[in-house]
Amino acid sequence: MGAHFAEPTPPPLGSVIQVTAAEETLPHVALSRHAHNRLGLQRTDDAWLDGRWADPATRVLVVAGARLRPVDGDVDWQPPAEVPSGRRVLLGEEDGTTYFACLVEPDDAPGDPQEWLPLRGLLPALAARPDRAPLLFHAIGLAEWHHATRFCPRCAGPLETRAAGHELRCTRCDRRQFPRSDPAVIMAVVHGEEILLGRQPRWPPDRWSTLAGFCEPGETLEDAVRREVAEEVGVAVGQVTYFGNQPWPLPASLMLGFVAHAESRTIDVDGAEIEAARWFTREQFRDAVAAGDMQVPRGVSISSSLLADWYGEPLPGGPSPGEQ
Ligand code: ZN
Ligand code: MG
Repeated sequence: MGAHFAEPTPPPLGSVIQVTAAEETLPHVALSRHAHNRLGLQRTDDAWLDGRWADPATRVLVVAGARLRPVDGDVDWQPPAEVPSGRRVLLGEEDGTTYFACLVEPDDAPGDPQEWLPLRGLLPALAARPDRAPLLFHAIGLAEWHHATRFCPRCAGPLETRAAGHELRCTRCDRRQFPRSDPAVIMAVVHGEEILLGRQPRWPPDRWSTLAGFCEPGETLEDAVRREVAEEVGVAVGQVTYFGNQPWPLPASLMLGFVAHAESRTIDVDGAEIEAARWFTREQFRDAVAAGDMQVPRGVSISSSLLADWYGEPLPGGPSPGEQ
């Protein structure tokens, strides 16, 4: 969040965002900047890939299943000579260095299995080094996909890896499949000065957050926002304004943030996904958070950015990077 508030003029809520360069698109969402060059055209050039792998300056992230082994709390990028044999996937290039991931089965993870952690545990380190987030998210997203995709979804035939890890082809029926990102909408539902927050039954009792849900086939993002809000809390939404987006490969989401302008106020929770919801003024929000009565998203998540944008300043109580 530090990067966000260091920006001299964050775009006002509801403004039209000019898409001109990566740095200017989404200054208010963490982990969405400093993209590497993905070198998509090199993925089928085996000689080039071998050459980059042979360069001791190349860096590789080993992912076991979808888990990482941090070193001193940070992500461990190693020279190729130091990594175990596994599925080599090309991530790309940044500042002259080529980056790969090496995917191994969980049982083949080197060292103590207890040292291998899900990505979520590394979010505090990510918040401190947001420039490495796109490389890491690229690696984890691919690892999650390979970990979960073992057979052809059409004929259950065996799969062959292609395009440096970015394509799987069925060796029986030839069906090709590609890494997926599932669009999910996440929204600050506002009415006048107030925001609607809800809580899921599985959360700790004092935790509140923005609503979210997956976009369905054939549905626009705006309609997904309106449908999810109607289903979960029974509130009608009119205008929907784009806020920003954030890859969230846990396991395959692309979080698309919106401000949803409510046209009704009466709350009727679904009781399943959302067990409680209520409207907050900024004052009520600040008091509840400051008193410790309410836990809200912090750190790098887009829900935290949506909340801070509505609140208009850093959230009360200060940041606690990495919490979700
Ligand atoms: Zn097949
Ligand atoms: Mg939902």
